[in-house]
Amino acid sequence: MLDCQDHEVCIESAMREAESICQEKGLRFTELRREVLRLIWLSHIPTKAYDILEKLKGKAWSAKPPTVYRALDFLLETGLVHKLDSINAYIGCSHPREHDGCYFLICTDCNEAKECCSPELTDAIELAWSKNSFRPKKVTLEVLGQCGQCD
Ligand SMILES: [Zn+2]
Ligand SMILES: [Zn+2]
Ligand SMILES: [Zn+2]
Repeated sequence: MLDCQDHEVCIESAMREAESICQEKGLRFTELRREVLRLIWLSHIPTKAYDILEKLKGKAWSAKPPTVYRALDFLLETGLVHKLDSINAYIGCSHPREHDGCYFLICTDCNEAKECCSPELTDAIELAWSKNSFRPKKVTLEVLGQCGQCD
């Protein structure tokens, strides 16, 4: 589905971006947080938490599930990854500095997910909550279907 030519480049730039964001915010980008982020970035297919745990097995450190979940929470809070609730999986954010609303197109055939930022959607959703005097905590918009390549 993606316009990804060379995934090494995606991984490289995501890791570099994460590094500099953590530095600017004075956050510790520990080895485990780094490793978890890299595992999530292995492809554009969202990763389940148990896959991450599985892949971390046999690494130098023994990462216990709660520690790994804390690393995931950190990455979520920092905006470096997103959680896709409809498929219960994580995906790396390709532009963690630029957006606040995140909308996802998820292909149920190849399983890739694409992040789309749309100011128009953000405006429409904001209008909906302000009209209803609703205080939003989290906005999730996930569209499941088939991408152009799988259709
Ligand atoms: Zn890529
Ligand atoms: Zn994002
Ligand atoms: Zn597809």
